[in-house]
Amino acid sequence: MQTQACQALDRAHHLHPFTDFKALGEEGSRVITHARGVYIHDSDGHRILDGMAGLWCVNLGYGRRELVEAATAQLEQLPYYNTFFKTTHPPVARLAEKLCDLAPSHINHVFFTGSGSEANDTVLRMVRRYWSLEGKPEKQWIIGRENGYHGSTVAGMSLGGMAPMHDQGGPCVPGITHIRQPYWFGEGRLGEGHDPSPEAFGRACAEALEAKILELGEDKVAAFIAEPVQGAGGAIMPPASYWPAVKAVLARYDILLVADEVICGFGRLGEWFGSQHFDLEPDLMPIAKGLSSGYLPIGGVLVGDRVAETLIEEGGEFFHGFTYSGHPTCAAVALKNLELLEAEGIVERVREDLGPYLAERWSELGEHPIVGEARSLGLMGALELVADKATGERFDKSLAAGSLCRDICFATGLVMRSVGDTMIIAPPLVITRDEIDELVHLARQALDETARRLAEPCPLVPSAVPQPEEIRA
Ligand SMILES: *Cc1c(COP(=O)(O)O)cnc(C)c1O
Repeated sequence: MQTQACQALDRAHHLHPFTDFKALGEEGSRVITHARGVYIHDSDGHRILDGMAGLWCVNLGYGRRELVEAATAQLEQLPYYNTFFKTTHPPVARLAEKLCDLAPSHINHVFFTGSGSEANDTVLRMVRRYWSLEGKPEKQWIIGRENGYHGSTVAGMSLGGMAPMHDQGGPCVPGITHIRQPYWFGEGRLGEGHDPSPEAFGRACAEALEAKILELGEDKVAAFIAEPVQGAGGAIMPPASYWPAVKAVLARYDILLVADEVICGFGRLGEWFGSQHFDLEPDLMPIAKGLSSGYLPIGGVLVGDRVAETLIEEGGEFFHGFTYSGHPTCAAVALKNLELLEAEGIVERVREDLGPYLAERWSELGEHPIVGEARSLGLMGALELVADKATGERFDKSLAAGSLCRDICFATGLVMRSVGDTMIIAPPLVITRDEIDELVHLARQALDETARRLAEPCPLVPSAVPQPEEIRA
């Protein structure tokens, strides 16, 4: 009853994000009712292991009383006040200090936003403002990467390199361009020309940055923006040669580095920030998602001394901000979230125990007949579905193998997302070894079922979409 009532309301009134409205209306949405630890529960009584930590954000897992209490206490004390017009409040001041304490030492300031997209809007404005204040207003171009994701506001989508978003959302913000992504499996191994090795491919991708800088002119380029590991693009860990080569390019030119830490931050890769894993020294780091473990919406931009000093000393008023910049209740929850991550040693556990354990178990899935590559870093992992294991050749696009596998996963009791035919996971950081075993077991079952269905003459007829009971039986 609850399921059908919710679905009917949804169908009648709710336009979902990143969704084919009509198709969802026909299928009906899955109704999630509650969650604990690493499991979500739907209105039909299924328990599902959340292999995506919501949308890469529920780092502390579900049902943390301490976060509920932090929110409740703050709602009673001061539910809302703004941070415009020379005002502040204790939770936002304490959160700013805590973030700067955790960030690399050259980062000592933060600008708060309500989301990761707003953080990247802030980045765009800050970067261009910085160069104007430096007396170089012609340094306007920002270089991003194809298939990078930086959010879905106009600036976020423009900085990102998602072609389908550009096609629907255009025209993009002018002065933003994109270079190739360091996606070895998709564009190195399977790409045109077949680069000889991941390492050579990684260097070639870094050379593309230098070529773009030279093409535009160093005096016209403001910044390079990239995720340390691409998340939404498909959990793409660059070859080991990539970041050192990019760093060498950036060192030759006077260009800011923006590391989008919205997914990589707060322990996902076994460090507080992904930049620390790759030894980057970004000038700006947009953050969101894991900052509050998703319990309340909050984002921000961590600003390095170079940019902060100019904005503070030379800038006068920065005409930018959001009603909810530094929202006290969101800030209180974020602060408590960081304190818990720290007190429970979760970041270290990801680095030293859970990350290596996932890597070991996940790599076993690389042996599966329809998996061309299994990769992971920290608690982020990907599987490349292929029709031919030897050549890495993909399934025919019309089979939509990735979506099929994702639907089967859901029905088997696992949230694993698909990006094309790349399956990805990013579970809560509080997952245990036993739960990792369960995740791998469910993923393997789903791969078996996907392979079985893809071998059928017509795997995608609607009646073939697995029902939970059918799979579980
Ligand atoms: C999710 C995401 C964003 C956008 O964050 P929202 O809170 O959805 O606006 C930006 N950058 C990266 C890397 C992300 O994964």
